[in-house]
Amino acid sequence: MSNYFNFETLKFLLHDVHKLEDVLKAERFKDIDSDMINIFLDSVKDYCDKALYPVFREMDEKPAYFEDGKIHVHPIVGEVMIKFGEMGLIGGHFDEEYGGMQMPACAINSAYSIVSTANNNMSGYPGLTTGAAELITTFASQELKDTYIEKMITGQWAGTMCLTEPQAGSSLSDITTSASANEDGSYNIKGQKIFISGGDHEFTENFIHLLIGRIEGAPAGTKGISLFVVPKLKIEEDGSLVSNNVETIADFQKMGQRGYCTTHLGFGETGTTQGWLVGEENRGLKYMFQMMNTARISVGRDATACATAAYHASLQYAKERVQGRKIKESGKKDSSNDPVAIIEHADVRRMLMFQKSVSEGSLSLIQEAAAIHDKMEGASPDEKKDLHLLLELITPVAKTYPSEKGKEAVDKGVQILGGYGFCTDFVLQQYLRDVRIMSIYEGTTGIQSLDLLGRKIPMDGGKSVQLLVAEFTKEIKRAKAHGSLSEFADQLAGGMKTIESVLGKISGFAMKGEFEKYLADATPFMEMFSTLVIAWQWLKMANTAQDALSNNKLTYSTEFYESKIHTMKFFYKYELSRIEGIAKIFEHEEFLTIPTEKEFNF
Ligand SMILES: Cc1cc2nc3c(=O)[nH]c(=O)nc-3n(C[C@H](O)[C@H](O)[C@H](O)COP(=O)(O)OP(=O)(O)OC[C@H]3O[C@@H](n4cnc5c(N)ncnc54)[C@H](O)[C@@H]3O)c2cc1C
Repeated sequence: MSNYFNFETLKFLLHDVHKLEDVLKAERFKDIDSDMINIFLDSVKDYCDKALYPVFREMDEKPAYFEDGKIHVHPIVGEVMIKFGEMGLIGGHFDEEYGGMQMPACAINSAYSIVSTANNNMSGYPGLTTGAAELITTFASQELKDTYIEKMITGQWAGTMCLTEPQAGSSLSDITTSASANEDGSYNIKGQKIFISGGDHEFTENFIHLLIGRIEGAPAGTKGISLFVVPKLKIEEDGSLVSNNVETIADFQKMGQRGYCTTHLGFGETGTTQGWLVGEENRGLKYMFQMMNTARISVGRDATACATAAYHASLQYAKERVQGRKIKESGKKDSSNDPVAIIEHADVRRMLMFQKSVSEGSLSLIQEAAAIHDKMEGASPDEKKDLHLLLELITPVAKTYPSEKGKEAVDKGVQILGGYGFCTDFVLQQYLRDVRIMSIYEGTTGIQSLDLLGRKIPMDGGKSVQLLVAEFTKEIKRAKAHGSLSEFADQLAGGMKTIESVLGKISGFAMKGEFEKYLADATPFMEMFSTLVIAWQWLKMANTAQDALSNNKLTYSTEFYESKIHTMKFFYKYELSRIEGIAKIFEHEEFLTIPTEKEFNF
C-alpha cells in the first residue's frame, strides 16, 4: 500500500469533526448511509494506490506536449475519465434526474482529497468536467442539458473553464472574445483563450468549453459578459460529431503539474465556431462564479494534497535517515553514542510538525466548506442564506491558506531531506514545483485577499463575519468546558480581538473613501485572518479528540487523539502567535507601497 496520506485522519475529519452522519439526515441523502460512503472511499483509495500514485512521477518526467496539432498526455488520463464516471466521481452528487447519486459534497470532497494526494496531476481533468456540467444543469436550457450532461458525467466528454485571454487574466472585465448572434439561436464565437486546463488531448472524444465572451453591442466591463457552451465537436441531428473549428494552438510547458495539460485555444479563427448561450445575456460572469467558487475550494484541496503527500514522504525519510547524535543534558554531543535517525532532532520535528499542522488544518477547513455546502440541503431559507454567507467568507481563505502555507510546508519537506531534497531522484522537488501553481490559478493570492477584505468581510453589513465569530465561539465554549483546553480557547479569543482591532483601524480608511489605503495590505490581512481560521479548525479537532478521550469512545488509538491535541498546541505556539507580529504592519501610519510620484528606483 502506498503511504502518501493518513486515511484515519480523513475519516476522523469526515465522521467525527464535521459530522457526516448529521449531514446525511437531509431528505436528499435518504438513500445514502455512512457505510456506503466508507466503501466508496475505500474503492477510491484502492484505485489510487494501484493506478494513480504509481504514475505520478512518470507524468512529470514525460509531460504533456503539443505535436502535429494535437496535445499528447499520459494514457491514464483517458482511463481515469471513464473510471471516475463509473465510480461517481464526476457526477456522484448530481440529482438523480441527471444520472447522479445525490451524494453529499463531503463524500466527493474526501474522495478527491485521496485522488489529489496520490497524484495532483489528475484531479483537474474530471473536476473541471464536473464544474462545467454543473453550470449547464444550473443555468442552461433543457436542450443543452439533454445534449451534454450524460456524456460529461460518464467521462466520455470533458468540460473546461475558458476565461483567461492573453490580455485578461485577473481582470476578466477586459476579455474581448466576441459572440455574434445567428438566426438559429446560436452564436459565432471569435477569440483566443490561454492557459486552459485540460483543454484538449487525444484520449477524450469531445471537449465542452464553458466560455465567457461578449455579445456584440454588450456593455463594457463585467456587466457585458455572457456564458456559452462551445463544444470542440458539434453534434449533428443524426448524432454524428463534426468539427466546430476550435483550434488547439499550443500546450504551455510548465515548472510543475506537467502531466496536466494547459492549452492555448483559438475559436472561430480557422472557420466558424458555434456557441450556445447559457441562461441570459450579460449574466455570464455571475453564472461562472458558481464554477469558480467550487474550483477555488478544489485548488485549496489540491494544495493541501501536495502538502500532505510531501509530509508523508519527508516523515518516512526522517525516520530512516541516520545523521548526528542527540544533544546530552550537558549540552554536548557524545561521539561515542550511536548516531540517530533525524526525526530525533528537535529542529526536524519542528519542520514535520509544521507540515502536519498546515496539511491537516487545511484539510479540516476544506471539509468544513463541504459540510457547509451540504447543510444547505433541507435548511430553511434564512438558514440557507446564513450558510451561503459563511461559505462565501470561507472560500477565499480555503483557496489561499493551503496554497500559501502548503508551499512553505512542502519547502520544509525539501529541507528535511537535506541535499537529497534538491535532487530529482527524490519526489520532494516535484511536490514543490507542483504546489507553486496553487497560489496563482483560480485567482492569485493578491486577488483572493482583495476579495476577502474588499467584498466578503463587508458583505451584508458584516453578517458573514458575525456568523464566523459565532462558529468560533462554539469551539471556545467547548474548549473551556474541557478545562485542559481552556488556555487555547483564550488564545483563539485573543486572536479574534487582534483582528477586530486591525479591522477597526483600517475600516476608517474605507469610511473616508480611501479604498487604496484600506486594501493596500490585503495580503498580510489574509495571512492573519486565515491563520486564525485554521486555529479555529485546530481547536475543533482538539475538542473532538478530547471528547473521545474523555468519554472513552475511541474509534482510533489513544495516540491518534493525543497527536491531534499535540498538533493543535504546536499550531497555537508556532503559528497563531505570529498574527500579533502581522498586526503590527497595520499600526504603521506610513503607506510604503502605495505608488506616489517618486519612483523609488524601481
Ligand atoms: C497552469 C495554469 C492553468 C490555468 N488554468 C486555467 C483554466 O483552466 N481556465 C482559465 O480561464 N484560466 C486558467 N489559468 C489562468 C489563471 O487563472 C491566471 O493565470 C490567473 O488568474 C492570473 O492571471 P495572469 O496570469 O494574467 O496574471 P495577472 O492578472 O497579470 O497578474 C500578475 C500579478 O499582478 C497581480 N495583480 C493583478 N491585478 C491586480 C490588482 N487589481 N490588484 C493587485 N494585484 C493585482 C496578481 O496578483 C499577480 O501577482 C491557468 C493558469 C495557469 C498558469
